[in-house]
Amino acid sequence: MNKIQDGILTLKGIYKYHKFLKFSQYYPEEKIDDIKSKWLSDLLQHCHLNVPWYSARFREYGVDFKSSDPFRELLKLPILDKKTVRENHSQFCMPRVADQGLSFYTSGTTGEPLKVYTSTNQWVIEQGVIWRSWKRAGYKFRDKIAIFRSYAPKNNEVNIKVDKLRNWAYFPVYKMDRLSLLEYFNFLQTWKPKYLRGYPSALNVIARFAIQEGLKLDGLRGVFTASEALTQECCENLKLAFGVNVFDHYGQAEITCMFHDCEIHEGMHIDWEYGHVELTPSDQAGRFKIVATNLHNFAMPLLRYDTGDIAEGSWSNCGCGRSSPVIAKVYGRSDDYLISNDGAEISSVNLYTYFSKISKVQRFQIQQFVPGHLVILLSLWSESSADSEWVKNKICNELEEMSGFKVDVTLSNDFIQTGEGKFPVFVNKIKK
Ligand SMILES: [Zn+2]
Repeated sequence: MNKIQDGILTLKGIYKYHKFLKFSQYYPEEKIDDIKSKWLSDLLQHCHLNVPWYSARFREYGVDFKSSDPFRELLKLPILDKKTVRENHSQFCMPRVADQGLSFYTSGTTGEPLKVYTSTNQWVIEQGVIWRSWKRAGYKFRDKIAIFRSYAPKNNEVNIKVDKLRNWAYFPVYKMDRLSLLEYFNFLQTWKPKYLRGYPSALNVIARFAIQEGLKLDGLRGVFTASEALTQECCENLKLAFGVNVFDHYGQAEITCMFHDCEIHEGMHIDWEYGHVELTPSDQAGRFKIVATNLHNFAMPLLRYDTGDIAEGSWSNCGCGRSSPVIAKVYGRSDDYLISNDGAEISSVNLYTYFSKISKVQRFQIQQFVPGHLVILLSLWSESSADSEWVKNKICNELEEMSGFKVDVTLSNDFIQTGEGKFPVFVNKIKK
């Protein structure tokens, strides 16, 4: 997508917010059902007529696209997984529509990219929904945002890049050593952003550095996070460092559904105008697979797509007065589990909590290549070798005792990155 197209679609998204999305989050339930039902009917009809994969599946499973209850028809289809989409890719795309739309590659920690097409109509809704989430944090057009995500300056590029039109400043998340952090704060304290935006892992480093050094950011109003699991520790550090709240975003590159935080921060609201979501049972009690259907993507419709992500609890009403329900918690990918010697899956969240309590650790990554064995990559705040040895031994002993895994700890900045420059906290490289 070029800059002009990006700008036009963003403006259309803002218009959509002012005309529709600003109000639709408060619509009564029956009205929401009616609108979604109409959208889903149109989508099923399009799938039947134009999408080879679904023409065949609808016959096979007896899906009637003319039915007055499209949600009942949708449930006749089996849940769709990424593997099926990868293996039958061309059958999901309508070449002419897909060519006029936009395309992206998903990355994921599995290292299996998937090309996804989206229609421009869908992209406009996406921009509008994101704009709405920013408005919940009080954002106004051209408020300054400091962004800590995919920017990676080349040799001849500046460390901090400013987009004067949007009033956004980009910082490299690959450079988080002490000198770079001091440079960033120097800039931020003069430039005075109203919001921070980025990967939780990068923003957590910023918050912890500010706490250690007693650095403040006057005028900051909020933080927008996305793309990685947001930990309680990260929220608390940002609150402690800058006195502001975190507004989290959940979505996937497969473009099936989105959830956003509100001012009350008691859960994530589903963006019902974007995708239809089903929570289906997982292997663990009280946790559910997020299965979703985007309601507007005619370029590459994915019906009942298993996002691979897990939600905890069920839908409930939020105290903010919006009618769209909230879900208590969204966990990362369901394959974000440690695998023990006997093949058992163990949640990796416990380890994140453990690391958050070791103040000498600046960043860490847990890598697993074989069951029962963890490789921990660490970068520390201090470069003293006495400190390094002490921290390495402490972590190695405590983790081995706590988890029962064999643990190797290495000091290194050579973290595994995804194609989008994210640093996942846990990388599962066990061959399946
Ligand atoms: Zn709310």
